[in-house]
Amino acid sequence: MRVRVDAEQCQGHGLCQMTAPQVFALREEDGHAYVLTDEVGSELSGPARDGADSCPERAITVE
Ligand code: SF4
Repeated sequence: MRVRVDAEQCQGHGLCQMTAPQVFALREEDGHAYVLTDEVGSELSGPARDGADSCPERAITVE
């Protein structure tokens, strides 16, 4: 599955990273989130979706 963070929408709350640190991290320079790997394996689909659901800005898409 592919997981993306919309950099324009991300406000750097960090909830995705707190919810799913295996999938999301925060950039040091601006605190915005990014996805650790291009392809997220099926073993991380649950955490990826939980992280997306945690985002108050709806900045994360999971396909
Ligand atoms: S929860 Fe949403 S707004 Fe907050 S850091 Fe993650 S992607 Fe950005």
